[in-house]
Amino acid sequence: MKLYNIKCPEQQVSFAEAVQIGLGKEQGLFFPAELTPLADVDALLDLDFVTRSSQILHHLIGDELSYDDVQKMVQAAFTFPVPLKEVSAQVHALELFHGPTLAFKDFGARFMAQCLKKFAADRKITILTATSGDTGAAVAHAFYGIENINVVVLYPQGKISELQEKLFCTLGKNITTVAIESDFDACQSLVKQAFDDAPLREQIGLNSANSINISRLVAQICYYFEAVAQLPKSQRSQVVISVPSGNFGNLTAGLLAQTLGLPVKRFIAATNVNDTVPRYLRSGQWQPKPTQATLANAMDVSQPNNWPRIEELFRVKSRQLSELSEGVMTDDQTKAALHELYLQGYLGEPHGAIAWKQLSEQLGADEQGIFLCTAHPAKFKSSVEDILQIDLELPQALAQRAELPLLSEQFAADFSILKTLLEKVSA
Ligand SMILES: *Cc1c(COP(=O)(O)O)cnc(C)c1O
Repeated sequence: MKLYNIKCPEQQVSFAEAVQIGLGKEQGLFFPAELTPLADVDALLDLDFVTRSSQILHHLIGDELSYDDVQKMVQAAFTFPVPLKEVSAQVHALELFHGPTLAFKDFGARFMAQCLKKFAADRKITILTATSGDTGAAVAHAFYGIENINVVVLYPQGKISELQEKLFCTLGKNITTVAIESDFDACQSLVKQAFDDAPLREQIGLNSANSINISRLVAQICYYFEAVAQLPKSQRSQVVISVPSGNFGNLTAGLLAQTLGLPVKRFIAATNVNDTVPRYLRSGQWQPKPTQATLANAMDVSQPNNWPRIEELFRVKSRQLSELSEGVMTDDQTKAALHELYLQGYLGEPHGAIAWKQLSEQLGADEQGIFLCTAHPAKFKSSVEDILQIDLELPQALAQRAELPLLSEQFAADFSILKTLLEKVSA
């Protein structure tokens, strides 16, 4: 698979390079130079999830990896089910939250871990990442127990929920978690200082595993195929998919799936009031506003970092952005939607409820709708309990984890302390 840097197209890299560098020159995103449609999508849709995903990823990645290697990686990464559940006659929920950290980010993070393991071969790698909760958990779980890769996750002490902290700070082995006595920005700035330290970067094989990595996107393509595969054949021709969006990686993956030949009539980009993209689609003006905190906090993003890839896809395929539908929800509307969805017999959480409401409002009489459920309701336990006035039980895996002791170190936002830790961890 060849990729180019959207900002500096003369920078061309292999898939292995793109996975290991993450971002290109001038912070440019890598984009596939070719997106050849799959030969027989109907036949693919008849396969099981792991076999189909292996074939799709092998088609995309090309001869850089053998089919057997890709299949082994997919088998190791996609170890949990992706059920499509009927909510009403025309509407289905795609549940992407049955992985170890109860959110769809497990797909991308786990496949990325397999890619880095493969490409690093015997070299040691240190993953350093800052998290305000969810991404760090997905990364920590994805790399847990992988040989030659050490992970250090920084998070702001006291600023993430107790449950979130238990989820990824109880692992041990090759996962080191550090509570920084400051805020999330300080954590990010420490990460940046480490990446700016070239000798250190070289010495410990520093890598960020961040959300713009191409390996995450290609992994996410696979569950769009799985969604359509689970629909009865008679319902596959008029499919509309609603995607709750923040950084727009998920929607990018959906559009790539469609480009590869998945029959999707239309996508809906559903957001909370951080609506830079919906406003852009209406007005043609890119005008980010300050980020606002909402109930769907994983979508509290005003400068979505994957958007340039969507623009590039539409440019190279000569498509119009007006093909994209959009919808914006305030917190009050999100609460009402969560209620309404519950009355229809489906227990959701704010992100999925936003996607569902926009889908229900925009679905035509002859269309079939799918909305993506990006997180388990228990992940947003307190808001779901508040809004619906119910008691939620934790899934068993999480309940067990909540009983384990925290293993985090704790220190001030001081780069020299972090540097010592990184050298120790990677020794
Ligand atoms: C990350 C996340 C999103 C947003 O996905 P993007 O790919 O950033 O658009 C939506 N819902 C949940 C629960 C998430 O964790």
